Parts: sequence; structure tokens; C-alpha cells
Amino acid sequence: MLKVYNTLTKRKEEFVPLSESEVKMYVCGPTVYNLIHIGNARPIIVFDAVRRYLIDRGYSVNFVQNFTDVDDKIIKKANEEGKDTMEIVDFYIEETLKDMHNLNVLPATVNPRVTSEMPQIIAMIETLIEKGFAYEVDGTVFFETESFAEYGKLSKKVLSELEAGARIEVDDIKKNPMDFVLWKPKKEGEPYWESPWGKGRPGWHIECSAMSKKYLGEQIDIHAGGEDLIFPHHENEIAQSEAANGKSFTKYWLHNSFLNIDNKKMSKSLGNFMLLRDVGEAFGYDTVRFFMLAAHYRSPLNFSDTLMESAKASLLRIKNCMEDLNFAITKAEEEPIDEAGNELIAQVDAYKARFYTVMDDDFNTADAISIIFELVKTTNTYIKKGRNKRLLLILKENLDHFIGILGLLYKTDEAKESISDDEVLEWIAKRVQAKKSKDFAKADEIRAFLESNNIQIKDTREGVQFKRV
Ligand code: AMP
Ligand code: ZN
Repeated sequence: MLKVYNTLTKRKEEFVPLSESEVKMYVCGPTVYNLIHIGNARPIIVFDAVRRYLIDRGYSVNFVQNFTDVDDKIIKKANEEGKDTMEIVDFYIEETLKDMHNLNVLPATVNPRVTSEMPQIIAMIETLIEKGFAYEVDGTVFFETESFAEYGKLSKKVLSELEAGARIEVDDIKKNPMDFVLWKPKKEGEPYWESPWGKGRPGWHIECSAMSKKYLGEQIDIHAGGEDLIFPHHENEIAQSEAANGKSFTKYWLHNSFLNIDNKKMSKSLGNFMLLRDVGEAFGYDTVRFFMLAAHYRSPLNFSDTLMESAKASLLRIKNCMEDLNFAITKAEEEPIDEAGNELIAQVDAYKARFYTVMDDDFNTADAISIIFELVKTTNTYIKKGRNKRLLLILKENLDHFIGILGLLYKTDEAKESISDDEVLEWIAKRVQAKKSKDFAKADEIRAFLESNNIQIKDTREGVQFKRV
């Protein structure tokens, strides 16, 4: 039984989606004014693994991830660079999609952008005003927090305490300090849209309520993001959606814990701010993915170069095992399965059962990876002595299955083959021929050529094995 930790109830609950076959999942996406940093990569990777696991469990997943493409930070960047905001956001959306692809993240069903969804956003604000949950003051529309009785239910904050702690601005036009903006009037030099309240643009929170409704409906199964979004972003989304639609909004709220750098919060002022692109290029994007999934998504995670080196070495153990296994399969024979073989099958079945148990326990990818390593060890031991094709194929099938659920092994763009496997085999055959005819210079030349294409060859008892490195 799959159990997920729900921030709303603060406990693990059995996962029962609203519809039997389809899971509706919304993950808050990045604000596009910069290349994404290594912290932003955490929700992207962990919720992709959640999605892949749900797919493996037989659900189809309707996965929506927005891009926030109108925001103060975007406007500031556009002004600094003397560009149009659209030029900035188009560029960073493209680059973020490239990053996601490099991390082996399945493309979203849809990636809505705020600037393309103004009619839905404005309609939702109008509904909130009509129903008495929002009010306008001089072109600004506020959500009236006191009108929503359950305000604070996600973050477990008490509205009266929040109000007492809130700073009262001298020029505050709100009825209440915790009221938040749904629509703000245009300022000089800012992008704007026409609305019933004059020219302006939406506040941040309303975009997700409106886009979630448009693409997934009024009620959804999973809403996810980093833990910093619990308050106020997700608290405000609940208030807006439930007030406007008159229905409970999201069944399960999932939040990843933060990634720190060298045990410190990542921030520009501390100078420890790292872009995913730099880390991906230094250690490999697949290493970044492995590293993020080697911890449970709700545990804080520390990032350091040493930890990345060690993640890279661990991932290489899995890669090497798969290479050796694939090679062994090409040399294996069909044979009957003996008692030891049956024991191996039982062992693999036990790994599989444990893999599902840990993933069913709130997507414990950390334990799932430990089980992959146990299977890697069993496989390496078997390859040393056994050559039963059926057993090798069972090992491969299970490794492929576990690795696929976590999306761990894939060809990254930087490692795209310059020559195909068939061509490599042809070169190897030519080299064998050269060695037979004692043309060692030619044999060395072929080896050097393959190495220059990141292909390493190894002479083994059973023939020549090659690896892409
Ligand atoms: P932002 O662009 O700041 O809205 O962030 C996009 C996503 O990245 C949100 O889900 C954030 O919660 C998440 N996020 C930002 N910083 C970190 C971090 N250091 N660790 C984990 N998640 C983060
Ligand atoms: Zn959001």
C-alpha cells in the first residue's frame, strides 16, 4: 500500500487518488530570470521520481509545472540588461527545459506560463470578489484572509498571531495586515494587462490556483514544491482555490526539504550560490540526479564537492555492473536452472519486494538505492562464476526496472555517441584481425581512435569488452 506524507495532516496517509486511473499532479515551477540553481533542481528531480513511481504503479499522471514569467525579479533583470521581459523569460524557459532534459526529467504534460493565462487569472479574481473573499482599493485587489475561516490550515499558523506579528506599513491600504495581493496596478516601465481594475498584473499566488484549475480541474491529487512554499504560497493557494471553487483543493501536499551547501543555507550574499549547469558540467547531470535521490526528499540534504565525487563513484559502480552484465549476456548460454539458480531467483524476488516496500513508504528513494546496490553486488558476484543466460537476464530485467523507476542511468547530451555500438564492434573486429596478422601499430591506432571517442576496450578471457566512459 502506497503511503505519502501529507503536510496538511502532518502524517503518512494511504494514497487514494480522486480517480482510479489518473493522478492529477501540480508542481510549482521556477521564476525564470536566471539559470536554475542546484537547490531548484531538488524538487524537479524528486517529484519526477514520484511521478515515475506512480506510473510504475499503473497510474497515468497528468503533470503540470508552471513557469512564473512575470515577477519583480524578472523586471529588474530586464531593466539591468536593457531587454524586454519577454526576451528574458523566453531565454530562461528554454534553458530551464534543457536543464530538466539533462536531468532525465520526463516532460510535463503541460508547462503553463502566467503571461498566457491572464483570462483565467482575472476570472478567478472576479469570482473571489463576487463571493466576498476579495476587495479592491485603487486598482489593487486583495484577498481578505479573515473571510476564509480555514486560513492557516496547511502551515498550522494562527491568523490572529500572524496579524499581531505583522508589520503595519504607514501607507497600508489593506483591511488587514495578512491580506495578500491578487492584482496590482501597473507601475512605470512594467509589463501590464487590461483588467476590470485597470492596467496591472497578477500577484504571485493566484497564478497557481488559476492554472491548476484550468489544466487539472477544481480538485487535484498532489500539489508539490519546496518546503519554503508552504507559507505563504501554498497557504494562499488553498485560500484562493477553496474560496473560489467552494471545494477542497488538493488531497496530498508534498514538500521537499532544503538543500544546503557545505552545511550553510545557499544564498548570493554568502557567495555559495551554485548553478545546476556548473555542477552538472563538473560532475555530470546524472550524478546530480543520483545525488538528490540518494537522500529521502523530506530530509535536509547537504551539498559539497566531496559528496558529489563520492556520488559519481557510486553511480559508476552501477554503470560498470550494467556494462559487465550486458557483456556477460552476449557470451551466455541457455542452460537449465539448478538449485543455486533458484536460490538466486528467490533472492532477486526478495529485493524486488523490498524495493516496493520502501518506495511505498513515502517514496524512500534513499533505501531504494541501497537495494539497487545490494542487487549490484549480487550481480557482480554471479557474473564472476555463472553464465546462465536466463539468470543473467533476470538480473538485468530487475536492475533495469529499479534503475528506470528512479531514472538513474541515461545518456546525457555530453555523452551522446559519436559512433554507434555496431560501429564499435566493427572496429573491435578489425583490431582483432590486425593483432592476428601482427600489425600491432594498426591495433594500437584503432584503440587510440576508440579512446578518442570515449570508448575503452578491455581484452578479457571471453573476448573484447567495450565501455563508454
Ligand atoms: P523559486 O524559483 O525560488 O520559486 O524556486 C523554485 C522551486 O525550488 C521551489 O519549489 C522552491 O521551494 C525550490 N527551492 C528553492 N531553493 C531550494 C533549496 N535550496 N533546496 C530545495 N529546494 C529549493
Ligand atoms: Zn505555485
